[in-house]
Amino acid sequence: MFIGVRELEQHELTFREEFPPGTIDFRTPDFRQAAPVHVQVSAEISGQEIHVVGRLATQLELHCARCLEPVSQKLEPSFDLRYRPVAAICREEEIKLAPDDADVGFYTGAGLFLADILAEQVHLALPMKTLCREDCRGLCAGCGANLNRERCRCGPHAVDPRLAPLAALLGSGETAGAGKKKKSSKKN
Ligand SMILES: [Zn+2]
Ligand SMILES: [Zn+2]
Repeated sequence: MFIGVRELEQHELTFREEFPPGTIDFRTPDFRQAAPVHVQVSAEISGQEIHVVGRLATQLELHCARCLEPVSQKLEPSFDLRYRPVAAICREEEIKLAPDDADVGFYTGAGLFLADILAEQVHLALPMKTLCREDCRGLCAGCGANLNRERCRCGPHAVDPRLAPLAALLGSGETAGAGKKKKSSKKN
Protein backbone atom coordinates (compact mmCIF):
# COMPACT_ATOMS: atom_id res chain seq x y z
CA MET A 1 0.00 0.00 0.00
CA PHE A 2 1.43 3.32 -1.09
CA ILE A 3 0.24 6.57 0.42
CA GLY A 4 0.82 8.87 -2.51
CA VAL A 5 0.82 12.66 -2.51
CA ARG A 6 -1.02 12.80 -5.85
CA GLU A 7 -3.84 10.64 -4.60
CA LEU A 8 -4.08 12.46 -1.27
CA GLU A 9 -4.42 15.73 -3.14
CA GLN A 10 -7.57 14.27 -4.73
CA HIS A 11 -9.12 12.79 -1.62
CA GLU A 12 -8.47 11.49 1.87
CA LEU A 13 -7.52 7.81 2.08
CA THR A 14 -9.17 5.45 4.53
CA PHE A 15 -8.61 1.75 4.51
CA ARG A 16 -8.08 -1.48 6.38
CA GLU A 17 -5.39 -3.90 5.41
CA GLU A 18 -3.74 -7.09 6.53
CA PHE A 19 -0.01 -7.84 6.21
CA PRO A 20 0.81 -11.54 6.62
CA PRO A 21 4.18 -12.47 8.20
CA GLY A 22 7.00 -11.89 5.72
CA THR A 23 5.40 -8.94 3.92
CA ILE A 24 6.90 -6.27 6.19
CA ASP A 25 10.66 -5.92 6.46
CA PHE A 26 11.43 -5.16 10.12
CA ARG A 27 15.19 -5.13 9.46
CA THR A 28 16.01 -6.97 12.68
CA PRO A 29 16.69 -10.54 13.80
CA ASP A 30 15.42 -9.67 17.30
CA PHE A 31 11.84 -10.76 16.74
CA ARG A 32 9.56 -12.60 14.38
CA GLN A 33 6.10 -11.56 13.26
CA ALA A 34 3.86 -14.40 14.47
CA ALA A 35 0.47 -13.17 13.20
CA PRO A 36 -0.80 -10.84 10.47
CA VAL A 37 -0.48 -7.12 11.07
CA HIS A 38 -4.03 -5.76 10.93
CA VAL A 39 -4.12 -2.07 10.26
CA GLN A 40 -6.75 0.61 10.02
CA VAL A 41 -5.49 3.90 8.65
CA SER A 42 -6.62 7.23 7.34
CA ALA A 43 -4.34 9.68 5.60
CA GLU A 44 -4.74 13.22 4.37
CA ILE A 45 -2.46 15.96 3.17
CA SER A 46 -2.37 19.63 4.04
CA GLY A 47 0.07 21.65 2.02
CA GLN A 48 2.89 19.13 1.65
CA GLU A 49 2.47 17.59 5.06
CA ILE A 50 1.01 14.09 5.14
CA HIS A 51 -1.00 13.26 8.21
CA VAL A 52 -1.47 9.55 8.97
CA VAL A 53 -3.71 8.34 11.78
CA GLY A 54 -4.44 4.74 12.62
CA ARG A 55 -3.93 1.69 14.71
CA LEU A 56 -2.39 -1.70 14.16
CA ALA A 57 -2.58 -5.02 15.92
CA THR A 58 -0.24 -7.97 15.68
CA GLN A 59 1.62 -10.58 17.62
CA LEU A 60 5.38 -11.03 17.75
CA GLU A 61 7.69 -13.72 18.97
CA LEU A 62 10.63 -12.26 20.89
CA HIS A 63 13.17 -13.77 23.24
CA CYS A 64 13.40 -13.35 26.99
CA ALA A 65 16.29 -11.02 27.82
CA ARG A 66 17.40 -13.33 30.65
CA CYS A 67 16.76 -16.94 29.62
CA LEU A 68 16.43 -16.48 25.83
CA GLU A 69 13.24 -18.57 25.68
CA PRO A 70 10.64 -17.43 23.10
CA VAL A 71 8.07 -14.98 24.41
CA SER A 72 4.82 -14.10 22.67
CA GLN A 73 4.02 -10.39 22.70
CA LYS A 74 0.79 -8.75 21.55
CA LEU A 75 1.06 -5.20 20.24
CA GLU A 76 -1.83 -2.84 19.56
CA PRO A 77 -0.35 0.62 19.15
CA SER A 78 -2.26 3.52 17.68
CA PHE A 79 -0.42 6.31 15.92
CA ASP A 80 -0.85 9.88 14.80
CA LEU A 81 2.00 10.90 12.50
CA ARG A 82 3.04 13.80 10.34
CA TYR A 83 5.49 13.61 7.47
CA ARG A 84 7.07 16.41 5.51
CA PRO A 85 8.92 16.16 2.23
CA VAL A 86 12.69 15.91 2.70
CA ALA A 87 13.27 18.52 0.01
CA ALA A 88 11.30 21.11 1.93
CA ILE A 89 13.41 20.53 5.02
CA CYS A 90 16.68 20.90 3.11
CA ARG A 91 15.60 24.33 1.92
CA GLU A 92 14.47 25.34 5.36
CA GLU A 93 17.40 23.88 7.23
CA GLU A 94 17.70 26.93 9.44
CA ILE A 95 14.14 26.75 10.65
CA LYS A 96 14.05 25.41 14.14
CA LEU A 97 11.44 22.75 14.66
CA ALA A 98 8.93 23.71 17.32
CA PRO A 99 8.83 21.35 20.32
CA ASP A 100 5.56 19.81 19.20
CA ASP A 101 7.20 19.02 15.86
CA ALA A 102 9.48 16.48 17.47
CA ASP A 103 7.37 13.66 16.05
CA VAL A 104 7.46 14.87 12.48
CA GLY A 105 8.91 12.37 10.06
CA PHE A 106 9.98 12.80 6.46
CA TYR A 107 9.11 11.35 3.12
CA THR A 108 11.02 11.39 -0.13
CA GLY A 109 9.55 11.48 -3.59
CA ALA A 110 5.91 10.73 -4.21
CA GLY A 111 4.84 9.56 -0.79
CA LEU A 112 5.13 6.83 1.83
CA PHE A 113 4.88 3.07 1.93
CA LEU A 114 2.49 1.95 4.63
CA ALA A 115 4.70 -1.08 5.35
CA ASP A 116 7.57 1.23 6.33
CA ILE A 117 5.32 3.15 8.70
CA LEU A 118 4.11 -0.08 10.28
CA ALA A 119 7.64 -1.44 10.71
CA GLU A 120 8.61 1.72 12.56
CA GLN A 121 5.51 1.71 14.74
CA VAL A 122 6.08 -1.91 15.73
CA HIS A 123 9.66 -1.08 16.76
CA LEU A 124 8.45 1.88 18.81
CA ALA A 125 5.79 -0.23 20.53
CA LEU A 126 8.23 -2.91 21.67
CA PRO A 127 8.86 -3.10 25.40
CA MET A 128 12.30 -1.91 26.51
CA LYS A 129 13.03 -5.33 27.92
CA THR A 130 11.20 -8.56 27.23
CA LEU A 131 10.97 -11.09 30.03
CA CYS A 132 9.20 -14.46 29.93
CA ARG A 133 8.01 -13.61 33.45
CA GLU A 134 8.85 -10.97 36.04
CA ASP A 135 10.89 -13.33 38.19
CA CYS A 136 12.72 -15.12 35.39
CA ARG A 137 15.92 -16.51 36.90
CA GLY A 138 17.79 -16.51 33.62
CA LEU A 139 20.74 -18.65 32.59
CA CYS A 140 23.68 -19.56 34.82
CA ALA A 141 26.67 -17.65 33.49
CA GLY A 142 28.87 -20.62 34.34
CA CYS A 143 27.10 -23.66 32.91
CA GLY A 144 24.33 -22.09 30.86
CA ALA A 145 21.58 -23.96 32.73
CA ASN A 146 18.13 -22.39 32.44
CA LEU A 147 17.60 -21.73 36.15
CA ASN A 148 13.81 -21.57 35.73
CA ARG A 149 13.65 -25.30 35.18
CA GLU A 150 17.03 -26.91 35.87
CA ARG A 151 19.72 -26.89 38.49
CA CYS A 152 23.01 -25.17 37.98
CA ARG A 153 25.59 -27.79 37.00
CA CYS A 154 28.59 -25.77 38.13
CA GLY A 155 28.95 -27.92 41.26
CA PRO A 156 30.25 -27.03 44.72
CA HIS A 157 33.51 -25.59 43.41
CA ALA A 158 31.79 -23.08 41.22
CA VAL A 159 34.29 -20.96 39.40
CA ASP A 160 34.01 -17.32 38.60
CA PRO A 161 31.90 -17.42 35.42
CA ARG A 162 34.42 -15.14 33.70
CA LEU A 163 37.04 -17.85 34.20
CA ALA A 164 34.74 -20.68 33.21
CA PRO A 165 36.22 -21.14 29.71
CA LEU A 166 39.72 -21.38 31.21
CA ALA A 167 38.58 -23.79 33.91
CA ALA A 168 36.93 -25.93 31.29
CA LEU A 169 40.21 -26.12 29.38
CA LEU A 170 42.30 -26.95 32.43
CA GLY A 171 39.79 -29.42 33.75
CA SER A 172 39.15 -31.22 30.52
CA GLY A 173 41.83 -33.85 31.18
CA GLU A 174 40.53 -34.63 34.65
CA THR A 175 36.94 -34.63 33.51
CA ALA A 176 37.70 -37.19 30.85
CA GLY A 177 39.37 -39.45 33.39
CA ALA A 178 36.75 -38.80 36.03
CA GLY A 179 34.08 -40.80 34.27
CA LYS A 180 33.92 -43.89 36.43
CA LYS A 181 31.91 -45.85 33.95
CA LYS A 182 34.48 -48.46 33.16
CA LYS A 183 33.51 -50.67 30.32
CA SER A 184 33.40 -54.21 31.49
CA SER A 185 36.02 -56.06 29.56
CA LYS A 186 34.60 -58.15 26.86
CA LYS A 187 34.37 -61.79 27.45
CA ASN A 188 37.03 -63.74 25.74
ZN1 LIG B 1 13.13 -15.81 30.89
ZN1 LIG C 1 25.96 -23.12 36.63
